[in-house]
Amino acid sequence: MAINDDVILNIADFCPSTRALGPGLRAALWVQGCPIGCKGCIAPDWIPFVKANLLSPQEAGDRLLQNSDIEGITISGGEPMMQAEGLTAMIRYIREKKPINVICFTGYRYEALLRWDQTKKIQDFLIEIDVLVDGPYIEALNNGLTFPGSSNQRIIELSHEKVLSDRKWTPRRMEIHLRDRNILYVGIPPKNWHRENLSNGVNIFGPLVMEDK
Ligand code: SF4
Repeated sequence: MAINDDVILNIADFCPSTRALGPGLRAALWVQGCPIGCKGCIAPDWIPFVKANLLSPQEAGDRLLQNSDIEGITISGGEPMMQAEGLTAMIRYIREKKPINVICFTGYRYEALLRWDQTKKIQDFLIEIDVLVDGPYIEALNNGLTFPGSSNQRIIELSHEKVLSDRKWTPRRMEIHLRDRNILYVGIPPKNWHRENLSNGVNIFGPLVMEDK
């Protein structure tokens, strides 16, 4: 499948392996920039449309393929639909090398995406996604239990892969990844969790992970 060499992704961060963003061992990627701005967003640093890590789809795909044991990738942000073309190219590149399932979070409702997509770039992206978690985060609807952060968000299985329903996994889980220079929080945090609460002993659902960079 041809890949548009001109498309550049703006990536906020990567995680080479996690068990906190869907079933099985997964790699995760967060895009930079989101126009929605939900109150209580757990990733406020990734809302501004500023330059972060500018990478080709191939370069981003290679970052996600660092760990050959992954069975899937999870894409979040930021708002992935803002970079639909580049992410489509990245997924296709990865799938040329390895079969993977794809989970993607979006702040938009699925029906709105279908209506909005004049250029078909989002339609092409949706074709590559197995599971879409849709809708904005609404703090008042966070029940502290489910995989989406708030109960208005839906889990929509777009493919026949049955990525979620055929596997045992813990929906709400968060890991703390320790790196050389910083800490990365991965997953869906407990209700009322804030980064500054960490030192106060707030319960974390998942383990500490030492991450090789
Ligand atoms: S859609 Fe997601 S990234 Fe965007 S503001 Fe809402 S929670 Fe944050």
